[in-house]
Amino acid sequence: MTASDCLFCRILEGEIPADVIYESDSALAFRDINPQAPTHVLIIPRRHITTINDLDAGDAELVGSLFVAAKEVARQEGLADDGYRTVMNCGEEAGQSVFHIHLHLLGGRLFNWPPG
Ligand code: AMP
Repeated sequence: MTASDCLFCRILEGEIPADVIYESDSALAFRDINPQAPTHVLIIPRRHITTINDLDAGDAELVGSLFVAAKEVARQEGLADDGYRTVMNCGEEAGQSVFHIHLHLLGGRLFNWPPG
């Protein structure tokens, strides 16, 4: 997959609009177009990585930066005290539909465990 085929790369390039709420050198966060909770934000790396299976040891800092971004977005959104969920789906059976890794940040309601 090239950047021009990837929806999230196109959002990063500004070719497709998104409701961006946080940016860092390595990550971008924007509101999910089909929210599954009162707050549903996607946090993506600026570099295209297709799935978790494609990560290398050298990507550890980049992946860590997604969680640092999640913490900051949760604080911005007023979720830090009550709690929130972070999820990264890998592959079709897990529900991954966009093949550029992304951390879902969901909050503002109660969540069940185990997830469906
Ligand atoms: P996943 O199913 O884990 O791959 O998550 C992909 C997410 O991207 C879904 O929650 C979609 O609602 C969301 N999504 C798809 N297209 C867009 C878009 N253009 N802007 C924002 N979120 C999107």
